[in-house]
Amino acid sequence: VSRPRRLIAGNWKMNGTGEALREIEAMAAAAGDLACDLVLCPPSTLVERAARLVRGTSLRIGAQDCHAQPAGAFTGDISAEMLVEAGASHVIVGHSERRMAYAEASALVAAKTRAAYRAGLVAIICVGETEAERDAGRALGVVAEQLAGSLPDDATAQNTAIAYEPVWAIGTGRVPAEEQIAEIHAAMRQGLLARFSTAGAEMRLLYGGSVKAGNAASIFAVPHVDGALVGGASLKAEDFLGIARAA
Ligand code: PEP
Repeated sequence: VSRPRRLIAGNWKMNGTGEALREIEAMAAAAGDLACDLVLCPPSTLVERAARLVRGTSLRIGAQDCHAQPAGAFTGDISAEMLVEAGASHVIVGHSERRMAYAEASALVAAKTRAAYRAGLVAIICVGETEAERDAGRALGVVAEQLAGSLPDDATAQNTAIAYEPVWAIGTGRVPAEEQIAEIHAAMRQGLLARFSTAGAEMRLLYGGSVKAGNAASIFAVPHVDGALVGGASLKAEDFLGIARAA
């Protein structure tokens, strides 16, 4: 199959106040000249202003999490419908920081993904093993299990992208060997093909974990890597665009 445009998504995590909007403005100004799709996920407090800022450009705004329910007594949470109203088009679900710090299991990630679909958001579903799991020879098994449990049956290449993010590579500057990324991405593709056939062939598989402008091109050269999910290097427009230009 011919490969879709690469998707480069930025995750600001709990970083960024109003003054950081100028970085988003600079990203938006350059997004139209890129060969890839570009999405930036600021903290929820900035989603509405960021979405207004990028209107008319090809930069899209996403959120970093959503609740599974559309509304209700869930203090502190935000629904997928609210994110859509604020101007988001994408949402990250199942990030390892949430799987670990908030004990989010794959069944909950699947429920949040269904909420994203219900509201019309594209879900960027994160999976990835810890270092202990890799050392125990369980990386492939953990990723396959998270993938199977986190994806609803109605996932398509349009409403879903998968991000493989080995936990030990996030924010550490440690990037897996190309063969390690290739092995996991090929296995994910096999699993998605078996379950979703054509949709599984076309679904974009991102790599995430210490991606920088300097290592992006070699990561994008790995088979079945259709983009990146970027944390630290998405905070500054110059760094983020450097990655996007390698895609
Ligand atoms: C992330 O948290 O999704 C991530 C990939 O972070 P970093 O790029 O900073 O490793």
